[in-house]
Amino acid sequence: MMDQDPRERQRRFRRTCGKFATGITILMVKQGPEIHGMTANAFMSVSLEPLLVAVSVSHLSKMHAYLAADNVVFTISVLQARQRMVAELFGRPHHGQAPAPALSLVDGAFPVVADAAAWFLCHKQQGVEAGDHTIVVAGVDDFGERDAPPLVFYRGEYFSQLREEPEDETLEFLLLEQ
Ligand SMILES: Cc1cc2nc3c(=O)[nH]c(=O)nc-3n(C[C@H](O)[C@H](O)[C@H](O)COP(=O)(O)OP(=O)(O)OC[C@H]3O[C@@H](n4cnc5c(N)ncnc54)[C@H](O)[C@@H]3O)c2cc1C
Repeated sequence: MMDQDPRERQRRFRRTCGKFATGITILMVKQGPEIHGMTANAFMSVSLEPLLVAVSVSHLSKMHAYLAADNVVFTISVLQARQRMVAELFGRPHHGQAPAPALSLVDGAFPVVADAAAWFLCHKQQGVEAGDHTIVVAGVDDFGERDAPPLVFYRGEYFSQLREEPEDETLEFLLLEQ
């Protein structure tokens, strides 16, 4: 299907990609006394040996400049279901008086979102230029998780309750028919 208008094509692309449900992460860097955080759902695990993850960071973001240096250390917090406000706070340029969320330090020095469902302490290994984003591939130096349901992002909206679906016996048939 061809779109004549490139903006409409991008909108349709975002809508289509939105069918892929993700969690929500907060990327966080500390430089001197300053801590900077940014919401990102473009996160994936990459490798077990060595442990690697990747995030896709827009060239337009401040985070992009923070992550430009080789070997820069940063954290990734995976938000839990009740942390939607945190996703919103870090998900757009400053908007009023939202209180900063509580942070914890991992390995004694690196901030993560307190009570996050999971966290990773990372160092940048590689930046792969990809259109208007850079895919930051990072080595994982430490990580942890807690027993908390994740915040889910799907079709541009946040969801906080996961429901286990019973297995669908007709699945095989449907796949063959498509
Ligand atoms: C659901 C969702 C998913 C997204 N996924 C991605 C993605 O995968 N990749 C991508 O590049 N962009 C993504 N974005 C967009 C990105 O989060 C925004 O464009 C963001 O504004 C970029 O942040 P920035 O680094 O430019 O800094 P800013 O826009 O200046 O900061 C972001 C927000 O965080 C606040 N903030 C930062 N540090 C602190 C602190 N220490 N204490 C309190 N508040 C602080 C700022 O006040 C501001 O409100 C996503 C946005 C949303 C909502």
